[in-house]
Amino acid sequence: MGLFDSIKNFKNRLEKVESTVYSGTLSLKEVYERNAKLEAEISIRTRELDRANRQMLTLQHIWDMMNSSKPLSSVLNAIVNSLQGELGYLYSFIVKQKSDNDGEYLQIVASSRADLDEKFKKFFNCDISDYRMNFPHFEELKNAISNNEIYQSVELTKLICGFIPALDENNVKAFIDDAKMKSYILVPLKSKQTHFGSMLVFSSRETISDSELNFLNLFAKQIELAITIADLFQAVKEQAITDGMTGLYNRRYFEEFIKKEAVRAVRQKQKFTVIGLDLDHLKMINDKYGHNYGDIAIKAIAEVLKCNARSIDIAARMGGEEFNIILPGVDSKGGYIAAERIRKAIEAVELERIGHITASLGVATYLEHSDDVDELLEITDQAMYESKRNGRNQVTIAKPAYETSWQEVAINAFVDILTKHRIPVDDKTSKMLTDKLQEMNINNEKLYQVADALVSTYNPEHQAGGVKQKVDIATLLAKRFDLSKEAIDRLKIAVLLYDIGNTMLPKDLLNKKEPLTQEDRLSIKQHPVIAAREILNPISNIVDVIPIIEKHHENWDGRGYPRQLSGSEIPIESQIILIVDSYFALLEKRPYRDAKSKDEAIKLIEQDINQKWNEKLAREFITIIRSEML
Ligand code: GH3
Ligand code: MG
Repeated sequence: MGLFDSIKNFKNRLEKVESTVYSGTLSLKEVYERNAKLEAEISIRTRELDRANRQMLTLQHIWDMMNSSKPLSSVLNAIVNSLQGELGYLYSFIVKQKSDNDGEYLQIVASSRADLDEKFKKFFNCDISDYRMNFPHFEELKNAISNNEIYQSVELTKLICGFIPALDENNVKAFIDDAKMKSYILVPLKSKQTHFGSMLVFSSRETISDSELNFLNLFAKQIELAITIADLFQAVKEQAITDGMTGLYNRRYFEEFIKKEAVRAVRQKQKFTVIGLDLDHLKMINDKYGHNYGDIAIKAIAEVLKCNARSIDIAARMGGEEFNIILPGVDSKGGYIAAERIRKAIEAVELERIGHITASLGVATYLEHSDDVDELLEITDQAMYESKRNGRNQVTIAKPAYETSWQEVAINAFVDILTKHRIPVDDKTSKMLTDKLQEMNINNEKLYQVADALVSTYNPEHQAGGVKQKVDIATLLAKRFDLSKEAIDRLKIAVLLYDIGNTMLPKDLLNKKEPLTQEDRLSIKQHPVIAAREILNPISNIVDVIPIIEKHHENWDGRGYPRQLSGSEIPIESQIILIVDSYFALLEKRPYRDAKSKDEAIKLIEQDINQKWNEKLAREFITIIRSEML
């Protein structure tokens, strides 16, 4: 091999080495670059992992809240707050579409920041709550909701003016600038396959990244889950019928039961009684021995109720230290006995440290004291408070809701008349009647007995029970003329008192056997009306009863007395008294005539149509008389 060849060979080898070195440099650079790329990716992934971790923690926190049976509103508030913190939003809300009589509106059910309100006030000089918010009426939003898709837009002015059209657009723009809002994102929320509401966020970025979108989706799922759990929780709570602390029925069950029991009571014409019970001085027990001992006292009451209840009784804890018991098929007498038994049993309990406890009770009976459930519970409560007022540890029977007021007025009027000797009744009778009136009165009985006794002083034919019959028929008649409860109450009192003036008539005139002279008649006619006014006028709480009594001898045709009023000039209450009084007078024997039969009396009532009374009143009256077993 010549030198040339050798040189050429060397050159070739050199070139080879050179190229190897070159390619080695290349691959080194490649390795370096690849490493750098990897490092960058690793750092991105680490950051992503960090974020995912944080997000997982946030979700975990929300999940814990959902399981802690916190109210839905606080869970939702926690969610929007976390969302705002996590994705760096300016504000986030959950809004719900609602409707009322004035149409649809938007309600904010959770919101991330309170300072929005202040900002709003600064720009618009009023509170955001002063406005009724609408859901903006643009298609894009509606479509997003119906397709259950996230919607993002930079048209903030359009959105806010859509919520509250009354706002000034320039002000809205200034508000958006000041808050540095660049876009908004709406995330529709579903619960049980239906649209629940929307999550709305205001962002300081114009666009939305993929990871942001993913995370928003995750949050939306979380919110939907929270709503579903809250709904379930509510449903379970609603299905519960017992009170956790005592094992008695709870208020919800009691309220449902009493409604059904009322329907059954009416259908089967069977009363039921409610006992209301409240533990005495629980606050003192709590203060002195601690809340735990208060709870022990409450549980002790529950045990007594369980021991004393028949299997058909319903004992319920209404809340706190308040209990109600329903006794089906039991009237007020039986209810009182049961309540007394419970009261004594509670008094007999001896508790560690506390010693003896007591309770105050009220008793009211359906179809006896009231025929309305709400009213029944109200008067039970009033009776219970009466027990408290009178010194606790006792039972009080409720006052009948619809009779108390007029009865009390009537009783007071009678007591006034008797004790102030406004009528010529001897002292002994007067005292006897007054005592009767002041006894505890539950059933009207005493009142009617006194009224009957007074009528008997001037009418020897008067039958016991007659006054009650008149009151009952007058009431039925009044109802047919749609009189108000107040008017009917006045009428009842008037029926009890309209003839009180007769007590002032000379006895020999009342018992006169010979036909009455013109003068006698005038005396009998005028005197009682004038006397009634004199007797009743000083009694202040029956002033509105006196005009009814004064006009109860006026006739439809204007031929009555004392003022010859006619037609509608005569109050309907007075017309009712005239016809009721005339009918019952016909059934009684008089010194100058025999008693009439029911049919004869009805015939005579018919004969006086358009004279003493009008046709409608007479027909209604006759229908009632015929249907009543009189
Ligand atoms: P009164 O005899 O007038 O009923 O007096 P009271 O102290 O029992 O009634 P008051 O209504 O003044 O106070 C009732 C207290 O009962 C107030 C409340 O803190 C307490 N309480 C309500 N529920 C519970 C409960 O479940 N447990 C306990 N320990 N206390 C309760
Ligand atoms: Mg109490």
